[in-house]
Amino acid sequence: MIQSLLIANRGEIACRIIRTARAMGIRTVAVYSDADANALHVRQADQAVHIGPSPARESYLVGDKIIAAAKATGAEAIHPGYGFLSENAEFAEAVTAAGLIWVGATPHSIRAMGLKDAAKRLMAAAGVPVTPGYLGEDQSPERLHAEADAIGYPVLIKAVAGGGGKGMRRVEASADFPDALASCKREAASSFGDDRVIIEKYILSPRHIEVQVFGDTHGNVVHLFERDCSLQRRHQKVIEEAPAPGMSAEARDAICAAAVRAAQAVDYVGAGTIEFIADASDGLRADRTWFMEMNTRLQVEHPVTEEITGVDLVEWQLRVASGEPLPKRQQDLSINGHAIEARLYAEDPAKGFLPSVGRLDYLDLGKSGRVETGVEQGDAISSFYDPMVAKLICHGKTRHAARTGLTAVLNDVQVFPVKTNAGFLRRLLSLPEFVSGAIDTGLISRIGEVITEQPVSDAVLLAALSWRLETYMAAEAAGDIAMAPEALFGFRLNRPRAPAHLPFTMNGAHHVAYALPTRTRADWEWALTIDGRIDLKAETLPTTYGPSAEDNPCGPVMIFDGGDAYEVRFGADHDAAGIGTTADGAILAPMPGRITAVEVTAGQSVAKGQRLLTLEAMKMEHALTAPFDGTVAELNVAENGQVTEGAVLVRVERAGE
Ligand code: ADP
Ligand code: ADP
Ligand code: MG
Repeated sequence: MIQSLLIANRGEIACRIIRTARAMGIRTVAVYSDADANALHVRQADQAVHIGPSPARESYLVGDKIIAAAKATGAEAIHPGYGFLSENAEFAEAVTAAGLIWVGATPHSIRAMGLKDAAKRLMAAAGVPVTPGYLGEDQSPERLHAEADAIGYPVLIKAVAGGGGKGMRRVEASADFPDALASCKREAASSFGDDRVIIEKYILSPRHIEVQVFGDTHGNVVHLFERDCSLQRRHQKVIEEAPAPGMSAEARDAICAAAVRAAQAVDYVGAGTIEFIADASDGLRADRTWFMEMNTRLQVEHPVTEEITGVDLVEWQLRVASGEPLPKRQQDLSINGHAIEARLYAEDPAKGFLPSVGRLDYLDLGKSGRVETGVEQGDAISSFYDPMVAKLICHGKTRHAARTGLTAVLNDVQVFPVKTNAGFLRRLLSLPEFVSGAIDTGLISRIGEVITEQPVSDAVLLAALSWRLETYMAAEAAGDIAMAPEALFGFRLNRPRAPAHLPFTMNGAHHVAYALPTRTRADWEWALTIDGRIDLKAETLPTTYGPSAEDNPCGPVMIFDGGDAYEVRFGADHDAAGIGTTADGAILAPMPGRITAVEVTAGQSVAKGQRLLTLEAMKMEHALTAPFDGTVAELNVAENGQVTEGAVLVRVERAGE
């Protein structure tokens, strides 16, 4: 057995590999770039070697530096993880040539499966059904166009060297083909250094079904059943599960047998995945499931297979690389229950899934389920690498149990200030289509904004207001405050007050709230309106986090609700009169309006509470008063002047400053 292992990767997969290696008593060596000097995988490994600047091209993709690091630390073997050099046949060869063990597929298999055209030819010859299409012997635009016309639209143009969802164009009609081809070729040339393409029939109602296979150096190949990775955005997986919902035993046998044939055709050694595309318009059928490509490495979503089979795939990789036979035969493998994985990304679903990088000042990934991550609170998501924060995995006896378990985990995810897709993933798991298993790769783009752009709930708005009002009330009324969360008239006071105007921003969007004193038979109460709405309702309020409102009445305060994060900032502090004042004594216009009276002049001494200006806005007069004793240091308005929201109207300098 290997005694020491260098992991030529970073992030969650490096941590994942270190965990198994450690359990097997194997010494671990990490490598790291400048950006990762203090990364979790570096902290977890027994030893770590710096291999260069932050860009992957100058560090994680430089094979020579990695091999030198292995030599320098006496590591016997190199595990490439996924991405980076994992499917680089030259690197695999160099590792072996340096006398090291390569924990991965042989260079021969990597090459055979590396290009989509050659792989499909090989598979067709091995009797594996392949997606109908043109494999591109002749790359002239005319020929490609004619082939696309013959296949029939829609078609998918794919870069032969493509990967990671890049280098693909769906074409709806013949007239669109020339432009799509040119743009696909440009992307392929710049991303993969190879502009050749193939053309495939675009499968409608497509489901992405893949089979985990494993081979050893003794000629054994087994499969570990299928995964369904149909929930994708921009051809990239976000939710994966095993087994595939709705897969019959017969279809499973046929598809998994085809996957084993595919692996045998390239004398496959190690962990690999055969990806199929299925036309699910009539359920999952073996005769409508076609080979798409083989990934000759450990896959991101391997944990769901581990959960249902009880196999540690990294352990198998290390055993097979050490020359041992596969620990289990096909008949010893079976499916136990159901597992679902969600990829938690640092991105903003409402902004087209734009990556959101930065330091994870607050990070809570829930209290249950399996978590695979490469970061801890205080670490950063860097723009140099894939912005995945974690993989969250739940296993259950049934699909329903796994789904509800994962929903609960996502509900508890709290990340700030980096934005994540947690709320989006949670909503995805609750879609009727997902619940019933009626999924396909187009689901996310079809559903669109319903799940990417969540309107702010009343509960979140009320939580923000209650955080702010509690201090306001405490300061003003010194007690006597009660709040029923569902109540519109929730704030009790023993005497009437001026209307509190509380403008705030939530994730940058402006909101206007009013707390108005209202006479009831027994008492005075406060009526809350937010953005003109008076019918705000919530059963319970989410918790708020931040400096106490008393310490910093403007916030920011964080509210986490069902995986979504809201940052709330109040536009201004509030003095006794309830109108905005900042800490330095600047009084801001809480809303657009007209100045109806100016009661002071610049340089004048004023006492706390003294009226300075009157603002007429939203059909009401608002008195703006001095927040403390001092002098009028700045006066920017005149009677009858119109003011915009947030404008500094007047500034009072504290006496003695
Ligand atoms: P999976 O099917 O496991 O999701 P992908 O092909 O999407 O695999 O990619 C797996 C990982 O490898 C991802 O982290 C992705 O960013 C990375 N990756 C894939 N292709 C490339 C590439 N051509 N260059 C760099 N990284 C890549
Ligand atoms: P990559 O190497 O980038 O992973 P794949 O060939 O595996 O490329 O395709 C990625 C995704 O694109 C698939 O998971 C599927 O959603 C979609 N796709 C690929 N081929 C087809 C096809 N012929 N018809 C419909 N969708 C397809
Ligand atoms: Mg793929």
